[in-house]
Amino acid sequence: MDNNIIQRIINCNYDEDKFEYSGIVHFRYDKCNEADLITVDEENQVHKDLYKAFLTMQAAAKKDGADIFIISGFRSRAEQKIIFVRKFKDKVNPSEQEFVKRLKFSAPSSFSEHHTGLAVDVNSLFQNFAKTYEYKWLVENAEKYGFENSFPKNNKQGLGFEPWHWRYVGTDEAEKVFQKARKFQQ
Ligand SMILES: [Zn+2]
Repeated sequence: MDNNIIQRIINCNYDEDKFEYSGIVHFRYDKCNEADLITVDEENQVHKDLYKAFLTMQAAAKKDGADIFIISGFRSRAEQKIIFVRKFKDKVNPSEQEFVKRLKFSAPSSFSEHHTGLAVDVNSLFQNFAKTYEYKWLVENAEKYGFENSFPKNNKQGLGFEPWHWRYVGTDEAEKVFQKARKFQQ
């Protein structure tokens, strides 16, 4: 076990484009341009292109009786660092087991799609969101609006199923941001 990797990840000293550990893969993402961020509510900002498409999708969903809303959008590297380590019992020196478990449902700082402003979590961070009408609606319709579920069941990145996490690939620019991950998943 390479404790050095754990420490590099936790301290944000891991500079490679791709992070791979124990069959789990995360890709590095640049922080989006601040000028492209738009405020959704007190807690959330997202990329303006995503938001435009999201509002259109949200309105269409509403017509079908599905209530879809953003609960998490853009995150800075500092915020992601806190999210990644906060569940470790020993926040500075977690066990390998804890580390691997965490990697499945949370990206280390610099490796989150949320850094781009082009990915959102919607409705609920519980697995049973996959059983709701809203999730089914997204599976059937999100693609029309440029959205796709980043981490479906049995995804090739080895990550846990995240029915709530959707990335926007509806413009050439946005598609380019996720190109590496999308190719990898094919
Ligand atoms: Zn997410």
